[in-house]
Amino acid sequence: MTDDASCDFLVKIVIIGDSGVGKTNLMTRFTKNEFLGDSKSTIGVEFARHLITLPNNKKVLAQIWDTAGQERFRALGPNFYRGAKGSICVYNITNLDSFNNVERWITEFNKHAESNPMSILLGNKCDLEDMRAVTTAQGTSFAEKNNMLFMETSAKQSTNVTSAFESLLIRITDNMC
Ligand code: GDP
Repeated sequence: MTDDASCDFLVKIVIIGDSGVGKTNLMTRFTKNEFLGDSKSTIGVEFARHLITLPNNKKVLAQIWDTAGQERFRALGPNFYRGAKGSICVYNITNLDSFNNVERWITEFNKHAESNPMSILLGNKCDLEDMRAVTTAQGTSFAEKNNMLFMETSAKQSTNVTSAFESLLIRITDNMC
């Protein structure tokens, strides 16, 4: 494929986190610059491919896997994680439960992914500041303890979405050569 031929790296990353935190919309914002809102077309694991040139000039074909609803059934099997070099672990800053569940998600990811995987923790829906239930300091602290990158994002307003994906991909490709 032309895409594969013109890229320096092919990197699989997975997006994990509770249902409703914004995983699908983060993916579509990054790969298509679209915010779909509630309109999910399919249920089941899906992935998107996106070719980007990072700020360090490396060309990366990112293969981004989205749970697309399966997380509700706790049914993300080994195939979902297999070969993943990184994860985007998402909670919703207005939902404390989704933050408390991050630990379970990241443990599951680290168990199944490639050795030395890299992860970024994202506090999504940062446009909903009035409804905030998780402080920025809580997010930062969890990420530091677990050797993850951290950002607050809004898929809706397109805040920090590209930089979140790019930061993770830079960190991953730095480790690849
Ligand atoms: P998923 O189940 O984790 O894939 O979450 P979705 O991407 O389907 O989003 C769940 C809901 O949250 C939808 O109603 C989206 O419109 C909404 N949503 C997603 N991202 C944001 C965001 O950054 N800000 C706000 N206000 N709503 C968001």
